[in-house]
Amino acid sequence: MSDGSSIEWTDATWNPVRGCTKISPGCKHCYAETFAERWRGIPGHPYEQGFNLRLVPEKLAEPLSWSRSRMIFVNSMSDQFHEKVPVAFIKAVFEVMELADWHIYQVLTKRANRLRKLTHRFARSLVEQKHVWLGVSVEDRKYGLPRIDALRESRASVRFLSIEPLLEDLGRIDLTGIDWVIVGGESGPGARPMKAEWVYSIRDQCQDASVPFFFKQWGGIRKKETGRALSGRTYDEFPKIVRSPLPKREERMRRARVIEKQVQGILSRVSMKIGTQKQRVCT
Ligand code: SF4
Repeated sequence: MSDGSSIEWTDATWNPVRGCTKISPGCKHCYAETFAERWRGIPGHPYEQGFNLRLVPEKLAEPLSWSRSRMIFVNSMSDQFHEKVPVAFIKAVFEVMELADWHIYQVLTKRANRLRKLTHRFARSLVEQKHVWLGVSVEDRKYGLPRIDALRESRASVRFLSIEPLLEDLGRIDLTGIDWVIVGGESGPGARPMKAEWVYSIRDQCQDASVPFFFKQWGGIRKKETGRALSGRTYDEFPKIVRSPLPKREERMRRARVIEKQVQGILSRVSMKIGTQKQRVCT
């Protein structure tokens, strides 16, 4: 887990999965890939294998050791529902979130169909937790809007949209069952432009539907210069935050032992070739 984050809508990141593969136009300038590839081949670096997909089971229990409550972006350096991430590993991530329930978790995916499928396969109590927010990325009409439907059909307590990078006018969006919307433009070299009217349209639809709206950034090559003001103000709205009180240390340690046992079980069951290393994981 990494405390502190430059991402405006979260406090920290937790990455028991690292690396990913591109799936749609929103991935073109993936920040995670750019970051990870910088370290490829550096011996001992967490991203020695660059952006190759791999599991990091030893990171699973981390939120249990984090005593101060955080809003945590889960797998910010990957996509938890990537087709190569084993089902049992995804389930273990949900189990950790259930045990470390004094945090808020933000789980974001572009693999919305797998999200829908697995949330119906897992126990309802595991996926419908008020402190676990499930979201999909939306960048355009073709790839993004069907993800919203898949999210709506997923089991979740809190559903959110990360509309970033916004690449075109989305038109009318069905916000039924959606609890939070984030909008942002692409940033960095080669950033694709975002028109103000596309943003206003989404903001107005959120206001009409009483959905909290968070405007992350205009983006562009130098995002600090373009900022995040919209109509002369910032939009920092969040859904209702519900989390449990921090348990005593002994209880936290007991829960950590539960997860450690599970990790051992995961490691002993199945092996999976990840990058150049052979690791023991589960299916
Ligand atoms: S799905 Fe997300 S993490 Fe994966 S390549 Fe696309 S933008 Fe990057």
